[in-house]
Amino acid sequence: MAPESVAVPELEKGVGCDIDSSLLASDGFSEERIARAKALLGSRVVILGHHYQRDEVVKFADFRGDSLKLCQQAAGTRAEYIVFCGVHFMAESADVLRQAHQVVVLPDLAAGCSMADMAEIGQVETCWEELRFAGASGVIPITYMNSSAAIKAFVGRHGGSVCTSSNAARVMRWAFARGERVLFLPDEHLGRNTGWQLGLPLDQMAVWDPSRECGGHDEATLARAKVILWKGYCSVHQRFQPEQVDAVRRRTPGIRVIVHPECRFEVVRKSDQAGSTDGIIRAVREAKPGTAWAIGTEIHLVNRLAHEHPEQTIVSLDPHVCVCTTMFRISPQHLAWALENLAEGHVVNRIQVDDEARRWARLALETMLALP
Ligand code: SF4
Repeated sequence: MAPESVAVPELEKGVGCDIDSSLLASDGFSEERIARAKALLGSRVVILGHHYQRDEVVKFADFRGDSLKLCQQAAGTRAEYIVFCGVHFMAESADVLRQAHQVVVLPDLAAGCSMADMAEIGQVETCWEELRFAGASGVIPITYMNSSAAIKAFVGRHGGSVCTSSNAARVMRWAFARGERVLFLPDEHLGRNTGWQLGLPLDQMAVWDPSRECGGHDEATLARAKVILWKGYCSVHQRFQPEQVDAVRRRTPGIRVIVHPECRFEVVRKSDQAGSTDGIIRAVREAKPGTAWAIGTEIHLVNRLAHEHPEQTIVSLDPHVCVCTTMFRISPQHLAWALENLAEGHVVNRIQVDDEARRWARLALETMLALP
């Protein structure tokens, strides 16, 4: 049985971005406007749709995928305009990896990411200083793709690397070959799940709370910690609970539970497997027809998988709505507005990382991409 369609909040007019009255047009009308503006722009524009993006937007995407893959695909085109239907850090990453002639646009500037917002550069710099004062030596910083360009640049400046949810273990292994410990930003859960995967016991992973002095730790704890986990999380994936795994197994014996590694440690431990968005898609695609799945990730991807794989039984692990509300802010109206402006020669909502941050953030990304 496919999951029920999701009730989602209406677009709030004008919250946090410059919206004109044409954004309130009906979706049918917006779709005509998008198609028209896209046809006018032709190969001058490439539209990127993240896996968690809503269907009425993603249907116009030239590429659909995770944020890194989308950035690379856009940079590989000759398009002048990259319109990112995702969230702010993704558009920044596209700007870091773009070619010199390309311009990146985020259709709604209010489309942020709760996790990326939890690591602010000033806090991270304070943490770095406090770790040095506490005598925590040999620290290699790693930041998850889901972080601001400023954090990626910080990591690049300090000899670290970016990671994705599919290569986090590889990047952490690389870091341990270079230093004694890792500062993992900004997702506590991905960091812990990855450390555990590499065989680290939980008591060697300390959570750094930026609101407390020295992250809330004494020197002895920091000296013992092999991984220092930034206290950040994804508000969507943190919703999944271990009890939901038990409940779905009771309801459907034999069901396979697959979750994103941004989920809590207890949820990942109870599941049959964990995987990135691409990993989840691959697992479902390659499974035998008739397999039942409970999937712990954003609902738009779960619903799309259910629609595209009628041969499987696919439900959300969370029976309630589990939507990325910030990603959802990119509406057909915003997309139509951005494209029409581009077609008229006006660049709106440009995302531009300053040159210095761009250079270091690119180094942190290239370090990851160069790993065997
Ligand atoms: S799903 Fe979570 S990590 Fe991804 S964009 Fe939304 S809030 Fe950020």
